[in-house]
Amino acid sequence: MPNTNILEGMQCPNCESEGPFRIACTSTVLVYDDGTDDFEWTNWEPDSWCQCATCEFAATARDFGLED
Ligand SMILES: [Zn+2]
Repeated sequence: MPNTNILEGMQCPNCESEGPFRIACTSTVLVYDDGTDDFEWTNWEPDSWCQCATCEFAATARDFGLED
């Protein structure tokens, strides 16, 4: 079944798996002086490192079908 949520359009170019993928992300976390944090958001770009969890093929998210 094709991905329709946050991995929409993405598929491993090596084994055709539709995920999950390991993606190098930029995360924003609300950090206080006492170390308490609150997850805010995670983002990745077409040139972010991406690896298929099924076959371990690694490339960029663009190579997995993420559109610019
Ligand atoms: Zn794969």
